[in-house]
Amino acid sequence: MKTEALKIAILSLHSSPIGALGSRNTGGMSVYIRELARELGRCGHHLDIFTRRNAHTNGQVVNLDENVRLIHLSNGHVGPVPKLALYHTVEDYFRALERFQAQDGLCYDLIHSHYWLSGLLGQIAQNRWQVPHIVMFHTLGALKNMAAAGEPEPELRIVSEKRLAKGCHCIVASTAKEREKLMRFYGAAAEKIKVVPCGVNLNLFRPLDRLAARRRLGFEADESIVLYVGRFDPLKGLDRLIAAFAYLRNHPRLRLVIVGGDGEQSSAFQYLQRLVLKYDVQDRVIFAGRIEQSDLPPYYSAANVLVIPSRYESFGMVGLESLACGTPVVTTPVGAFKRILREGQTGYVVSDDTPVALARGIEFFLPATLAEAPVPEAVRASVFEYDWSNVASAIMDAYTNVLTNQTYASN
Ligand code: UDP
Repeated sequence: MKTEALKIAILSLHSSPIGALGSRNTGGMSVYIRELARELGRCGHHLDIFTRRNAHTNGQVVNLDENVRLIHLSNGHVGPVPKLALYHTVEDYFRALERFQAQDGLCYDLIHSHYWLSGLLGQIAQNRWQVPHIVMFHTLGALKNMAAAGEPEPELRIVSEKRLAKGCHCIVASTAKEREKLMRFYGAAAEKIKVVPCGVNLNLFRPLDRLAARRRLGFEADESIVLYVGRFDPLKGLDRLIAAFAYLRNHPRLRLVIVGGDGEQSSAFQYLQRLVLKYDVQDRVIFAGRIEQSDLPPYYSAANVLVIPSRYESFGMVGLESLACGTPVVTTPVGAFKRILREGQTGYVVSDDTPVALARGIEFFLPATLAEAPVPEAVRASVFEYDWSNVASAIMDAYTNVLTNQTYASN
């Protein structure tokens, strides 16, 4: 086993860790990669994150943090491509990766890939370089299809995920539920799956004074604010959240603030606008657009409650961010929150995912006065264990384990 600083190749082919958070293809996975790499870099390990070069890329190599570089790989085409088209160019990206590696004179100790497309790139590298390969799927095609929202995921994805689950050395799952599904629907070996929850940046996400946060954002002290933060994807269930608002008409000063999305020209935004009109809640719903992550704490702090109305969620990092800012979370029974939330105190997992159930959950956190709201510091204390340094140390255990014992991989 190696005890010195490790050289780790992190693969994030389709989505850049410095991309626009909250836009269609960029969200929690980018935050995860960035935060994990930063923590491991601080511990002295060397991390190279490989992503696809796009039209906005500035330079091939970007120094992100201490010991962390972002490397843009090109296959000669920098325009937008559908995710699936990347499948056919994975070999090209491997050649670009090898060219970079040869120029730089580096040999990696292990590969950590994120999402199935990067997993396929990682699998080529694993076989050619004979180094361990750790995979994190973030979402699984079979589970997305079961949630039946948006475009179905192709069989190609599911077959590839099965192949990866069999051939890699370790799978990191963010919840015990994901581990169980990996075993049930993908035939993954139990001993290969390590459950490590996602993290939260406790320095950035802290409670601010609620009224000051409201003033800063232009909201009134006597309003009740329900917040959504995230991408506009059919799986996220924003349609249900808007429909839930139709059941909350007897709360006159209630607002739904929606953060994220790809702007007013996007079809997802226009669809949601139509729903807002259909349910006649246009005077209560505010689309705030995409907000830089560093500017999110006032939104969480201003809100009475954050809602995760998703049909499928692998974890739901916005929930941790909200709790870290002292704001309770109401969620459908997805992701990690059954274990994290203390029902009635820090949040509520609604029993089913209908708009009426969501509305009842939200109502629970709309007290008559702010003084009746949960104490922010107590809510925050419930997520101290999710500090990224703890995530990094659990991931390092997984790395150490595969470097010690590489016997689980079979192609
Ligand atoms: N986010 C952001 N600005 C936005 C919308 C989202 O910075 O306008 C960030 C948010 O802080 C969170 C991530 O995007 O860290 C979303 O992660 P989550 O796990 O909730 O959802 P995913 O994108 O993985 O489905």
